[in-house]
Amino acid sequence: MTPFDTRLIPSGDIFIGGEWRRGRAATFASIYPADQSVNMEISTASAEDAKEAVEAADIAWRKPDWAGLKPHQRALILYRIADLITQRHEALAQLQRRDNGKPIAETRVLVASAAATFRYFAACLETLDDELTPSRGDYMTMSVHEPIGVIAAITPWNSPIASDAQKLAPALAAGNAVVLKPAEVTPLVSLALARICEEAGVPKGVLSVLPGKGSVIGDVLVRHPLVRKVSFTGGTDVGRGIARIAADKLMPVSLELGGKSPTIVFDDADLDHAVNGVLYGIFSSSGEACIAGSRLFVQRPVYAEFMKRLAEGARRLRVGDPSSTETQMGPLISAKHRESVERYVALGLEEGGRLLCGGERPVGEGREKGFFYQPTILEGLPNSARICQEEIFGPVLVAMPFDDEAALIRQANDSVFGLAAGIWTRDYKRAWRVARALEAGTVWINTYKLFSISTPFSGWKDSGMGREKGRLGIREYMQQKSLYWGLNDAPLPWAN
Ligand code: NAD
Repeated sequence: MTPFDTRLIPSGDIFIGGEWRRGRAATFASIYPADQSVNMEISTASAEDAKEAVEAADIAWRKPDWAGLKPHQRALILYRIADLITQRHEALAQLQRRDNGKPIAETRVLVASAAATFRYFAACLETLDDELTPSRGDYMTMSVHEPIGVIAAITPWNSPIASDAQKLAPALAAGNAVVLKPAEVTPLVSLALARICEEAGVPKGVLSVLPGKGSVIGDVLVRHPLVRKVSFTGGTDVGRGIARIAADKLMPVSLELGGKSPTIVFDDADLDHAVNGVLYGIFSSSGEACIAGSRLFVQRPVYAEFMKRLAEGARRLRVGDPSSTETQMGPLISAKHRESVERYVALGLEEGGRLLCGGERPVGEGREKGFFYQPTILEGLPNSARICQEEIFGPVLVAMPFDDEAALIRQANDSVFGLAAGIWTRDYKRAWRVARALEAGTVWINTYKLFSISTPFSGWKDSGMGREKGRLGIREYMQQKSLYWGLNDAPLPWAN
């Protein structure tokens, strides 16, 4: 029996140019990371399928029934997508859990956020104005916005439904066509979303969803001359490669990349809240979050006490069955990824780090069957250590004491990444100073990992370029055009 609602994905077909059919590449067995049981075999796209999807998209977006719709008409389709996501909320949350092993409590939140994302960008589409710019002569000037055309959206495996929605909603709202390539290991939710879009009235060809290998499908999409923008979320190395190709094509790219975010606890912080916040910041989603607070700086007077409480808290975290609402940490995505996390922990120990907790695979309660790993905290390393500088993307925290604010800011900013940061203090002036000095796209003060679709999200430095979310997020998928209207009855002076 299929372990999820098969009405969401009735067969192993994929969605190419508005048709459900087999992809021409090998089939892929989607695995539940908690016990390695097979969710479903689905077909995957070949390079030829990707080209067909792009060609269909290039025809579809220009038509009167898509880019030609008035904003409020296209918004209606986005509202319908949101409503269908909401109607299928529980089934989608269960499917997302099977797809990547996240605990059900988290996947329910992700599905709700995907629906909210479509509603938000529908509202943006209906309410964003074009501009009448100040005239400097006998003419009128306007600034209007047009769709870009075919967008390739490439997403990672850690929160597929939310990442997909953050790209699809603004790109579709803006009147583009989208070819979505989900991560190879998590294709299911993206296919379910394609069915919803189709049912909501997105015209044939405007959306394709192509599961398959990034190095094949992703590469074909990025290089294809009809693809006019790439919106990518994933690792920094792959993102840099995409940016190189985009430079040759002179094509805009949005890149949401990796992170190694510092969390800072000052000695005046509410330590109960800070302990909870730091644990949540690194260990929720098993640390498989770009914004995971993976470097911890604690002011020396409270360091020993704080670390003792933090390690006790980490040992109490409930790691196990993702279908239980009690579970706080599910498995990692795959055996290969867990091995990579384990290599980093071994490296940290070789570099002179000490384990405060974790560092092993949990045993019992059937967890041997899945890719589980204990919440792990190391200390005793400088910020220059490799495990403080490289993204691990797992449940591994490295803690360091600090003495004064200036040294702290230097160390916190001493990273190639600049995605997010957290500050715990009761001193609002210090919070302001430090938040402004940190090189990061998002800073949380006395909280962590809160997200709002109305607040822009972006990475600095090697964490990315471009913006997602916020009302201007839709402009990332539009081209600006200036119009000059001559109002003078006399001919242009030069022509006379
Ligand atoms: P990844 O870079 O390996 O893959 C991301 C996507 O790119 C996948 O769909 C993959 O198939 C595709 N891809 C791979 N090679 C490609 C190529 N040559 N050309 C085009 N596409 C290609 O990343 P991942 O392992 O899936 O995800 C983890 C990474 O994503 C982490 O670094 C994490 O920090 C980052 N991430 C960033 C954000 C953010 O918003 N900044 C959010 C989530 C995840």
